Amino acid sequence: MPVMAARVPLHHLTNADLHSHSDVSDGTLSPAALAARARAQGVELWALTDHDELGGQHRAREAALDLGLAWLGGVEVSVTFAGETVHVVGLGIDPDDEALRAGLAATRGGRRERAQAMAEGLARAGIAGCFDGALRHAGNPELISRTHFARHLVESGVCADTHEVFRRFLVEGRPGYVPHRWARLGDAVRWIAGAGGVAVIAHPARYRFSPSAEYALFSEFVAHGGRAVEVTTGSHSAPEQVRYADTALEFGLLASRGSDFHAPGESRTELGALPALPGRLQPVWEALAQRVQHPG
Ligand code: AMP
Ligand code: MN
Ligand code: MN
Ligand code: MN
Repeated sequence: MPVMAARVPLHHLTNADLHSHSDVSDGTLSPAALAARARAQGVELWALTDHDELGGQHRAREAALDLGLAWLGGVEVSVTFAGETVHVVGLGIDPDDEALRAGLAATRGGRRERAQAMAEGLARAGIAGCFDGALRHAGNPELISRTHFARHLVESGVCADTHEVFRRFLVEGRPGYVPHRWARLGDAVRWIAGAGGVAVIAHPARYRFSPSAEYALFSEFVAHGGRAVEVTTGSHSAPEQVRYADTALEFGLLASRGSDFHAPGESRTELGALPALPGRLQPVWEALAQRVQHPG
């Protein structure tokens, strides 16, 4: 039963959390459990943004609206740009859009073979059985992620936490790392825009681009129709937030805010527990007001 029938006000200080993961990708909570946790943490406007998957969107919407949360459709698309993996979040997308669904299916298509190659690399380093181990952690067999390998290696006592697993085994130069070709930047932006959404560069401080490559990323993103950047995210320090607020103004981008929450006890940033967007920026959710679904 709806607990609140009022429209959620959308303004600069709205507690918007527009980046989070369920067990449809590499989170551990179901879409409904994630919605309940977002509600309990004071989130007012929420988006589930699973990697390369829309399979949780209908459950997320139903749970959000029942709980009194405003909701936006969401996704996080894996992209390869200049040899690096870049994540592009789509907000306000229609989860039933056929072209977006087809693009995401193609993007996640190689994940199983990649996971097999990762497991072979780990086996050569003396750790056997990682494919089955990772698969047991994956709520969606189409979406085996490095995170599932990390959880398996923590559970089996090889590492103390998932961050240690990434550092020792899952990043470039380490035995479980397998390079992968994801979607093209322009394709990801067009799928998102074609599905009625706004494309957002996710957690830009996480990429290791030179200043000129980063400039190329933002320029090409805008040229393809990208419109926003995550300024306030669980991945950014306070100085990084200031830096990407400047980038938003430089490129005329809207600003987004999201925790990138994956799992209780594992994620550094709790749902909704983020600073406000810097006041000089335009929140992406104001531009998406027509796409927001309200409870009641
Ligand atoms: P994949 O799409 O399979 O390459 O996995 C990428 C996911 O791994 C990201 O979305 C994060 O959830 C997680 N991840 C990446 N780097 C780290 C890290 N250093 N520590 C913990 N999790 C990480
Ligand atoms: Mn993830
Ligand atoms: Mn990401
Ligand atoms: Mn994410």
